[in-house]
Amino acid sequence: MEIQYDCIILGMGPAGLQAAIHAARKKARVLVLGRPEASSLWRAHIENYFGVKGPVLGEELIGIGMEQAKESGAELLQEDVVKIDSLDQNIYKVITEDKGEHTTYSIIFTMGVSRKGLGLKREKELVGRGVSYCVDCDANFYRGAKVAVVGDGSAAADGAITLSKIASSVVLITEEGLNVTPALERELREADIEVVEGDMIEELLGDTNLTGIRLESGREIEVDGLFIEKGAKGAMSLAALLGVQMDPERFQFIVTDDKQRTNLEGIYAAGDITGTPFQVAKAVGEGCVAGMEAASYALKRRRAEKGGKSE
Ligand SMILES: Cc1cc2nc3c(=O)[nH]c(=O)nc-3n(C[C@H](O)[C@H](O)[C@H](O)COP(=O)(O)OP(=O)(O)OC[C@H]3O[C@@H](n4cnc5c(N)ncnc54)[C@H](O)[C@@H]3O)c2cc1C
Repeated sequence: MEIQYDCIILGMGPAGLQAAIHAARKKARVLVLGRPEASSLWRAHIENYFGVKGPVLGEELIGIGMEQAKESGAELLQEDVVKIDSLDQNIYKVITEDKGEHTTYSIIFTMGVSRKGLGLKREKELVGRGVSYCVDCDANFYRGAKVAVVGDGSAAADGAITLSKIASSVVLITEEGLNVTPALERELREADIEVVEGDMIEELLGDTNLTGIRLESGREIEVDGLFIEKGAKGAMSLAALLGVQMDPERFQFIVTDDKQRTNLEGIYAAGDITGTPFQVAKAVGEGCVAGMEAASYALKRRRAEKGGKSE
């Protein structure tokens, strides 16, 4: 099988773009996936980063970083990743929201931290009693049940499609309308899913377990499960399900060593996704190390597979 990439980077923020610059300059074949406008940096004003006289808008820094990554030889594709399959011999297949399939020797997780949650009264209390933050982790508990999914992005749309094959009914509630690729939206519309736009959840119903939701319009929907899936799929749905070791306390951050390696061969992580401090300087520092390490690892494997010939 022809492996398409040496390194696939999940995330188009400072960690991902810095990793791409360093990996591509080592002549690795690099693909960067994600959305620049979804980076935490996009709307931030920066004045504490070395060499930058601030305040500078993050959007400007990311734009320059994307150009640098492309000039270094990396390919950039503005799509979210919805699934990762582990194939034989530590080869990975990365699947995007438009059903693109890309094989690689190495992956760098730089997906940042999700600030999800609806902030509703009793939301935390009902986690595990009807409220979930991960379709891929909990869908099977809702076989034949009535469920709702809330979110505008690829995680919510893909999650609703998955649930439509398992649950008896699925309602997708979007805050400001769908923000997904046309192919994913088409798939969603073809599935047996009711899409509610611009009518957010106001209240969670039920005593010990969730029994329903009330929308701002006053409409009540009877559900056994509510999946809060804001934005793109995060560390829990992609990294943890692959078997990547997460921090044992919050199960939110990926554990790495000083070379940004995780417990899985060929899998690296950098930036906010490895923990605090959430700072650009840390993100690019770790991105640099991860990019160089992943490229060296993948190029060594490619050379070995070619029978020891150099690139
Ligand atoms: C309001 C605000 C102000 C800040 N001010 C400062 C400051 O002054 N100084 C400072 O140093 N730091 C500041 N920060 C923090 C800084 O922005 C972050 O530390 C930094 O952006 C982290 O970089 P990252 O690459 O790890 O993650 P992010 O920049 O968050 O990038 C994450 C990327 O992952 C992608 N992604 C997520 N899920 C998927 C998926 N399923 N598939 C593909 N891609 C995915 C997203 O699309 C995005 O491109 C601020 C942050 C905020 C929110």
